[in-house]
Amino acid sequence: MQHFPIFLDLAGARVIVAGGGEAALAKLRLLMKTTARLEVFATHPAPELEALARDGRILLHRRALAAGDVHGARLAYGAAEDAGEDARVAAIARAEGALVNIVDNLEDSDYITPAIVDRDPVVVAIGTEGAAPVLARALKADLEARLPVALGLLARVGKAFRVAADALPMGRKRRDFWAEYYETTGPRSAEKGEAALEPALRDLLERHLAEAPGAGRVDLVGAGPGDPELLTLKARKLLDRADVVVHDRLVPAAILELARREAILIAVGKEGFGPSTPQSEINRLIIEHAAQGAHVVRLKGGDPSVFGRLDEETEALDAAGIDWAVVPGITAASASAAALGQSLTRRGRNASARLVTGHDIKGYAEQDWQALARPGAVAAVYMGKRASRFIQGRMLMHGASPDTPVSVVENASRPDQRILPATLASLPQVVTDLAGPAVLLLGIAPRDTATQRLEAAL
Ligand code: SAH
Repeated sequence: MQHFPIFLDLAGARVIVAGGGEAALAKLRLLMKTTARLEVFATHPAPELEALARDGRILLHRRALAAGDVHGARLAYGAAEDAGEDARVAAIARAEGALVNIVDNLEDSDYITPAIVDRDPVVVAIGTEGAAPVLARALKADLEARLPVALGLLARVGKAFRVAADALPMGRKRRDFWAEYYETTGPRSAEKGEAALEPALRDLLERHLAEAPGAGRVDLVGAGPGDPELLTLKARKLLDRADVVVHDRLVPAAILELARREAILIAVGKEGFGPSTPQSEINRLIIEHAAQGAHVVRLKGGDPSVFGRLDEETEALDAAGIDWAVVPGITAASASAAALGQSLTRRGRNASARLVTGHDIKGYAEQDWQALARPGAVAAVYMGKRASRFIQGRMLMHGASPDTPVSVVENASRPDQRILPATLASLPQVVTDLAGPAVLLLGIAPRDTATQRLEAAL
């Protein structure tokens, strides 16, 4: 982000526009939405400018801008539509302490005027850093259509009611009140006219004040393998509402960004073999926040029910008498199979697929090796990097061929996703190279090798 969006207070501030044509008028139409003192410098002002000057909307100087004219102004627009003149104006304005915008010249401007959707006091500003003006216009049109015309009115009346609503305790109770106002009560009452809004707010507040304090809850939510688009709609919605998000370190920033801005984010769990938060501490955290009435989202990588120590958390929540629910996510094995464009089960090859872990609390995890070593068997190994040599040894010991195909999928669904083809024989060598989380798909070859093999067999 090169340009940082802010909303600048222009009440009573001086703003300079240098130019007398259409470019100057276009900027003035926007600036006249504010209460800034607008001063225009133009040697040949268009008739519309003369009219605005007559109406007292602008102060019109019928001459070119000169040194000393910009002192004390906050913003200056170079709108002469003449590169030389605009550069001259920009130099003076900058020297005299104003921020400068040259119309249609992003490079020499200090700031951009965004596309605006105006439901004053609700204002949406859209910027693309000059990269895609077409997109900005499309977004504007979309928002114009979507935002109710009464939104500005709702916000104005709402603002005046803020002090009264402060009778509600801060946090969820207050948010629920305002959410109901903006989503249902407000729009419905606005249809009856502006006068209906204040009484509706009073009724609503009374009802919310009378309600018992909200009980906290915990949703144990699957964040999927990393691609934010692989979140469920439910996960998105819960993230949008959560007061507290307790997340695994594997959950990428792009997903955490979807959490409500005021939400408290707490990273727990372990990263690779790095530092870890004890499970008891995680349980304590989620219970403590929920007991205080917070809506907690416990965000886990992949699916919470797969190697996620879900039961330890739900048992602790039960013991504490806290309401909870599980929201499934896409597990790493599914994302890895998708990366390969292959299925985990296949008619004629394998009627079952196993999800296994390389590790358990006792160390390398024992499995039904006999079943895993059978030709055509498929297993997705989680946390298998360190255990790869152990797995290789056990599989060979139980009669698996050293040529058994293995696909290693690292960072499945993420921008840095890698697919490494291996065999049981080469597996320990191949995994030494891994930096990110990876699934070892035993019994599945990446697609092209599978096709090649099939062709070779024909
Ligand atoms: N609950 C998670 C698994 C947690 S165990 C799930 O359902 O996916 C952590 C292991 O998951 C990692 O060691 C790795 O084997 C696997 N994993 C998680 N995210 C992954 C990803 N994006 N790509 C490949 N493997 C991943």
